[in-house]
Amino acid sequence: MNNLFRHTYLKINLDNLIHNINEIKNYISEGVTIGTVLKADAYGHGANEIAKTLYENGITYFLVSTLLEGIELKKSNKNYIVFIMGHTPDEYLEEIVKYDLISTIFTVNQAQILNVLAKKHKKIIKVHIKIDTGFNRLGMKANSENTIKNIEKINQLPNIDMEGIFSHLALKNKEFDTIQFNKLKTLIKSLNAKGIHFKYNHICDSISTILYPAFQMDMIRVGAIIYGLESEEKGILDIKQVMSFHSKFSYIRKIKKGESISYGMRWTAKRDSIIGTLPFGYADGYPRNMYQKGYITINRKQAPIVGVICMDQCMVDLTDVENLNKNDEVTIFSDGSNNSISIDALASLAETNKNDIVSRFTKRVPRIYIKNNEVYNIKNELIL
Ligand SMILES: *Cc1c(COP(=O)(O)O)cnc(C)c1O
Repeated sequence: MNNLFRHTYLKINLDNLIHNINEIKNYISEGVTIGTVLKADAYGHGANEIAKTLYENGITYFLVSTLLEGIELKKSNKNYIVFIMGHTPDEYLEEIVKYDLISTIFTVNQAQILNVLAKKHKKIIKVHIKIDTGFNRLGMKANSENTIKNIEKINQLPNIDMEGIFSHLALKNKEFDTIQFNKLKTLIKSLNAKGIHFKYNHICDSISTILYPAFQMDMIRVGAIIYGLESEEKGILDIKQVMSFHSKFSYIRKIKKGESISYGMRWTAKRDSIIGTLPFGYADGYPRNMYQKGYITINRKQAPIVGVICMDQCMVDLTDVENLNKNDEVTIFSDGSNNSISIDALASLAETNKNDIVSRFTKRVPRIYIKNNEVYNIKNELIL
């Protein structure tokens, strides 16, 4: 591992990713396309590496949020099918055409601009129509006559292929989710009656794929679950967490009772203590508010974080850890096994959600990719 250059790293277990994909494949209905969500650098796991592994395992449909994320994937392999779920500003729509990306569309005006650009490049560009069924974020209103008229107009544009129509659930509760789903279904029915059909009708994210099998339609858009970050599937699917976070001590010292640690000297030793310094901090992506509640695991033993977490370093109390070896790998978080804190538990302590924890990781953290139980690749984005 001589191209790691650092003793703080994320381990990305690609075996678990493939396992999760296979679990989903076995669960969903025949003919449902698995759209895998690779936005936010594949939820911090590294979009290019995740895309490559998925592609090798038969997954070709990738979803991102922004144009830049789409271009990143297309540059690494132009055979990827890449769909941008967010809004692309008018002045950048030509990039959609240049890179053969699939665009979300929810105004006639944008569809017309895209049509002109597609014609200029002698291409047919695929779009998915975004429908707002109650989330009130993006999309044409589901239950409006104008929506049907507007979609008919877009359908007339010769260089636009309306491949899909979709909406997003607010996941309030089953009653409201069903209302949203039915709004989309009703609209699709009216469009079908006018001879307008879509290859992909879709509404499900990870949670709704599991909770409401009847909502799966032609495609699911799964992010969290492929990375093993959902708990909704418990008992239904066997999903494994893909990411874990590790480090090694940069320094271990003894301090006397009454000595204090870090900015503001806010933690004071109540006994003579052994304090370890670890080279990770909030600038790597670890939540700064874990001060006074977070812990790491070493030799299956939990050691509390003591003192304020710095930008690049933090300190832990090792006084109760037996057989301490400075070179042992420390687990900052993992899947909960061996007394580690899981991403789920860490997110609760940090008062946020799991996606927020994993998508914060910055490029200064090297990623070690594990495949067939071995180190398969090391990605160091900073010096790539
Ligand atoms: C992020 C996103 C998803 C994936 O959500 P998960 O809960 O991670 O599966 C699906 N659809 C849209 C529109 C999204 O923005």
